[in-house]
Amino acid sequence: MRVAVLEQPGADRGFFALDGDRARRFDGSPFEGARLGSIEAAWSPADLRAPVRPSKIVCVGRNYAAHAKELGHEIPKEPLLFLKAPSAIIGPGGAVVLPKESERVEHEAELGVVIGRRIRRASPEDAKRAIYGYTCVCDVTARDLQKKDGQWSRAKGFDTFCPVGPWIETELDPTDIEVRCLVDGEVRQRGRTSQMIFDIPTLLAYASAAMTLEPGDLVVTGTPEGVGPLAPGNKLIVSIDGIGDLSVGVVGGADS
Ligand code: ZN
Repeated sequence: MRVAVLEQPGADRGFFALDGDRARRFDGSPFEGARLGSIEAAWSPADLRAPVRPSKIVCVGRNYAAHAKELGHEIPKEPLLFLKAPSAIIGPGGAVVLPKESERVEHEAELGVVIGRRIRRASPEDAKRAIYGYTCVCDVTARDLQKKDGQWSRAKGFDTFCPVGPWIETELDPTDIEVRCLVDGEVRQRGRTSQMIFDIPTLLAYASAAMTLEPGDLVVTGTPEGVGPLAPGNKLIVSIDGIGDLSVGVVGGADS
């Protein structure tokens, strides 16, 4: 099932299940047991908004060996976690704003995991059962500030630095799917989730040992090699097999 947040003319924003060009509305948050209504309506891509409003975004650094290498790092012995600000989220059709504080903002295409049930100190098996679904994420990063600051809150946390969408796919085997990043139609990143150093159940269990994962929280699983800079006017697409394409713009300028 594809679960999206739609904002349609004259209606409140809400969760919908998509079936082709038809949509059915949930009577609340699907992460908290909301049911699907019976009335079907048409929808269009312009109605899509970010499909999650997480309490936190837990990210994983250097989870693909080739990417760790391209940034000059060793392969980590355990997952390297960091947090991204929920206020950075934008949805399909939004735009990444390049801030004036950075000279080099880069794309990182990643598979996002949406949590469906509260877990704390979960085993990998239990963590796997708590997954609601999967979505596309771009972990936009001010690379120069990441190096300068020594920790990553600012470099990863600017407003608009977390495009998410276009929806959540609830039925997907994530163990060996392709993750791509396209900039202006050119493939910049292409990797398979089978190349992850730590698999998804391991990551969730590891994260849940530190912090309770709540329904709707987003865990972002690392980027394959090929990260590179963004420029004003770029069209950025994160495309993942079995999910779809998340497309956003890039804007910048003296006042951004
Ligand atoms: Zn990343």
